[in-house]
Amino acid sequence: MPFNRPAVFVRSFRKKYPTAVRAEGVYIWDESGNRYLDFAGSAAVNFIGHADPEVSHAMAAQAEAVEFAHSSQFTTRIAEEFARELLEFTGYSGGCAYFTCGGSEAIETALKLARQYQVEVGNRDRFEILSREQAYHGSTLGALAVSGNRRRRELYLPMVRDSARVAIPYCYRCKYACRDCGHAYAEEVERVLDDRTRSTAAFIFEPVSGATLGAAVPPPGYLAKVSEICSRRGVLTIADEVMTGCGRTGRNLAAEHWNVTPDIVVLGKGIGSGYAPLGAVIAARHVVDAIDKGSGAFVHGFTYNAHPVAIAAGRRVLHRIAERELVRAAASDVEATPGTCLKTQLCLLRDCRTVGDVRGIGLLWAVEFVKNKEMKTPFAADVGFASRVSDAAANRGVMLYPMQGCIDGLSGDHVLIAPPAVITSDEIIWAVARFREAIEEVETSVPLA
Ligand code: PLP
Repeated sequence: MPFNRPAVFVRSFRKKYPTAVRAEGVYIWDESGNRYLDFAGSAAVNFIGHADPEVSHAMAAQAEAVEFAHSSQFTTRIAEEFARELLEFTGYSGGCAYFTCGGSEAIETALKLARQYQVEVGNRDRFEILSREQAYHGSTLGALAVSGNRRRRELYLPMVRDSARVAIPYCYRCKYACRDCGHAYAEEVERVLDDRTRSTAAFIFEPVSGATLGAAVPPPGYLAKVSEICSRRGVLTIADEVMTGCGRTGRNLAAEHWNVTPDIVVLGKGIGSGYAPLGAVIAARHVVDAIDKGSGAFVHGFTYNAHPVAIAAGRRVLHRIAERELVRAAASDVEATPGTCLKTQLCLLRDCRTVGDVRGIGLLWAVEFVKNKEMKTPFAADVGFASRVSDAAANRGVMLYPMQGCIDGLSGDHVLIAPPAVITSDEIIWAVARFREAIEEVETSVPLA
């Protein structure tokens, strides 16, 4: 055993991680004094900027008042207040918010809630969750079962109960050549449900795909049609807005872009903006009613449900989003916002030899790399193109989020860009210039076809 192995069970023992010692605004510093612009919001987490004293003060005040009370014995005023504010923010007044410690826990909660809902309304045979290829919903076994991310699933496949999957709209490599593809992809949901409606409890989807496919925006008509199909068949819709929720796409929820109202919405990442481990499930009124008027209790729970200190963080984060108008700042369809500046700057990268696609919305973007632009040929997976670009950008003080497998779970390289909404135009222009340099540096070190 190497004596200098870290005591923390790090993500990879092959990688050396800088030690973060300070953060402020859009920057993180390591112990050697290097400054990094957090251009990926870590992993689309930080939305309000780092080290906002108002959030830490709110957390400290709550810790001094009631640091914890178990949800089987008490509720807290702060949880009730935050739930009301969050329901209003998301447009689900009359429903309920269930608080967890992060995205995966919230996904597990949503899946079980969908199942219990069906039982409460008399559909005892409905337990399956229809999901999409190239989706990621979390790393717990239930969440992995409905995820399509091959790399993250393969090792654990014998342990998960697999579920039916449909294709995910991916316009850069559209299997319908973008001919009315919103409709065509939605038809796939209809076809699968033709055989499985009697056993399907819910359909889960990311309104804009997150890390796995990389910020793929659905084609016109897709989400509305899918919602209509599911609703007609009594299949609940679960929108995984762990990455897209709480303003990141320039709307409070990404689903609002397409005027759809899912039965259940899952939040994580941005809801705590990194200040506390926090996730939430927003259940529409009819979902809550089914349990309230039925058995009366959701058969589910975690010790740290609605943790008061995490709730205090989330509540203050939500206030900061409103006070600083950060949802508007994130919008890429409004003039002179960071969201619009990011879109413009990233699109300029299209002239790089290896940039095949630039896609996204608001402050959630991806750049997909290809070896040959005309043929859209991906790099071999062992080239690790996206990771190399990310390392080269980190050496220049810009943090990106590299991923592999956007095409079929194994091949396809992209990086995700999702900065805090407090980023300025100058910072965006500077970071994209460093990103370009990083791409060009890696292009000179790999054979291009
Ligand atoms: N859902 C989506 C869309 C995500 O991107 C993630 C995490 O990356 C999760 C769920 C899981 O969230 P967490 O890592 O907080 O458990």
